Amino acid sequence: MRIILASNNKGKLRELKEMLSELDIEVMSQAEAGLDLDVEETGSTFAENALLKARAACEASGGAAVGDDSGLMVDALGGEPGIYSARYGGGLSDEGKCKLLLNNLKSVKQRDAKFVSSIACVFPTGEVITAEGECRGEISLEMRGENGFGYDPIFYIRELGRTMAELSAEEKNAISHRGRALAVFKEKLKRFTEEIG
Ligand code: IMP
Repeated sequence: MRIILASNNKGKLRELKEMLSELDIEVMSQAEAGLDLDVEETGSTFAENALLKARAACEASGGAAVGDDSGLMVDALGGEPGIYSARYGGGLSDEGKCKLLLNNLKSVKQRDAKFVSSIACVFPTGEVITAEGECRGEISLEMRGENGFGYDPIFYIRELGRTMAELSAEEKNAISHRGRALAVFKEKLKRFTEEIG
């Protein structure tokens, strides 16, 4: 079976390939599949946006397609930046977004937050597989660490005593929202492919 990832993000493509390497599934990016899609994320949840991306790539290619959406939800901000995580503050760099968030939480003591990742896979038959993963932590008082991307330098994991940006890629994958969503997705996809033979 071939699955198209509705994204051209090299990191996401590598993760999905690694995760599905034991299953007999070929994963390719939408560019590799000759698709030029820029789907508007008009959904109101991560799950809706993941499904929008997967559906568009499935319709355009006629094959199975995976879409994903993720972001950071801060309790004290009512779940923001949420589905707007990539655009928080409008066009800021990763460092700019971290600094803006630290500033918006300047006098806030309750700093609980979570990363969320939603994955959807749409098949030409109309069947859909979905998976979601969460990783709980808190927003630190300052940026720390050089690894990862996005909000990793300000996402502190109490049990490990480190921010996400202070973890190796392997350590992050083992506990991250995306790693957990991918693990659930892999199991569901395995069962699905066994059922259809
Ligand atoms: P998307 O899933 O590619 O739309 O990314 C959403 C945004 O959420 C990213 O641009 C990051 O700002 C943030 N984000 C998602 N996952 C992570 C992560 O693992 N670490 C840090 N930031 C993340």
